[in-house]
Amino acid sequence: MRKTKILITMGPALQEVGRLREALQVADAVRLNASHGDLDSRGQALGDIRRIAQELGRRIPVLLDLQGPKWRVGALEVPLELAAGSVGVFFPAGGKACAGADWAVPLPHPELFLGARCGQRWVLDDGNLEVVVTAVEPGLVRARVEVGGLLKARKGVHPIGLDVAFDPLTPKDLVDIRWGVEHGVDLFAQSFVRRASDISTLEGLIRGLGGRQPIIAKIEHPQALDNLEEILDVSWGVMVARGDLGVELGVEHVPALQKQIIKMARHALKPVITATQMLESMIENPQPTRAEASDVANAIWDGTDAVMLSAESAVGKYPVEAIQWLGRIAGDADAHYHPRLGALADSLAPRLSSRTGVSVAFAACRTAEEIGARMIVVFTEGGGSARMVSRLAADVPVIGATTDSGNAHRLGLMRGVQALLVPKLETSDEMVDSVEVVLKDLHGLASGDKVVITLGLPLWKTGSTNTMKVIQY
Ligand code: ATP
Ligand code: MG
Ligand code: MG
Repeated sequence: MRKTKILITMGPALQEVGRLREALQVADAVRLNASHGDLDSRGQALGDIRRIAQELGRRIPVLLDLQGPKWRVGALEVPLELAAGSVGVFFPAGGKACAGADWAVPLPHPELFLGARCGQRWVLDDGNLEVVVTAVEPGLVRARVEVGGLLKARKGVHPIGLDVAFDPLTPKDLVDIRWGVEHGVDLFAQSFVRRASDISTLEGLIRGLGGRQPIIAKIEHPQALDNLEEILDVSWGVMVARGDLGVELGVEHVPALQKQIIKMARHALKPVITATQMLESMIENPQPTRAEASDVANAIWDGTDAVMLSAESAVGKYPVEAIQWLGRIAGDADAHYHPRLGALADSLAPRLSSRTGVSVAFAACRTAEEIGARMIVVFTEGGGSARMVSRLAADVPVIGATTDSGNAHRLGLMRGVQALLVPKLETSDEMVDSVEVVLKDLHGLASGDKVVITLGLPLWKTGSTNTMKVIQY
């Protein structure tokens, strides 16, 4: 059984419900990227995802990824070919292109027209294209193409070395946050997080709107790397956002940074998603390259909880095939990945190892390993206990049993964890009895199998896990 989770990005390629259904048979979670598409199509997509997941009997968390302070080119009627050596112009929203240019690109960001300087390099589309500024005129930036290619609508624009003070959340983000809370998405992802206070700001806004969604910090800004421990402390999990990370820090540094971020996330006992270009060639081709298969497997062996598809599933020619391939590659990588508990025990952040819940999680995992338990069942109200056990329980499947449907959804992003929604019962004996049938029916538990159970007494209080039981069914 595959343990690594698959997160897919929703988009036009999966709009057709037949395809979406095939996608959701394999995918474990869906990302709605607020950078693309309008609110109507997003609402439609969310409705379809919820309905199909229910029909399939699958619990699929939905993540709303906020655009954050990222510059993007405006809408283009058709993609533009920017040939190497050609010269063209960027013009402001509402402005108009001028004659005598090979191409003209709308750019709805006034500050870029103020910050542009001759000789500045602008990286477009997460590094796929590059231009150099040749002249700055009122309301116009002229540029020559250094690295050519096809430029599509709403692709990122990144002027190298332009230092502008950003608000961590833009007016567009505020609209999207409200939408996400009103529509009950399961999590938010925050782009270009630089410090822990960026997360608290977003959290305050979500709570102010009555939402309970936790936040995944996208690690893609250089400052986030300096502040990673604090960011990990306050976020639910992190994403290795390799697209903008590569633009900001240089593609050659991405592999080492990926390992570092994943390792720190695991030591902080937080989930981590690895994203961008995992099966990039499948945007055009029905098969992945060997290099892509290796990349996916290595992310898993680095310790990622989930691997993500972006354009492959959102706008690719083979969205369903890409998801299926990702499932196959991840399944095989899982079968060759057997980390031991001891290694993590030694490197766990000292501030965590003194907590009761962490000690009980450790005890459960060690016991499960030693007695050959079939699974670990974690009764978890806030989701924190399941999260800890899933970090530590390298090879034993984890069942996260909760009465909270939002939590049950989010457990779907954690490596090796399956969620189980349970009724609120009065005694721990009742709880243990209540899951037996489900474990036998759905999770292959046989008579004689041993199961390690953790729970908190008094029952159903968040953060109170203090009890471990071993049961032979
Ligand atoms: P981010 O920096 O948040 O990852 P991105 O622009 O890289 O933003 P992805 O979600 O990674 O966006 O998707 C990769 C590409 O796929 C996008 O640049 C865009 O061209 C296309 N795409 C993704 N989602 C959609 C959508 N809903 N509608 C249209 N195009 C989309
Ligand atoms: Mg991307
Ligand atoms: Mg990004």
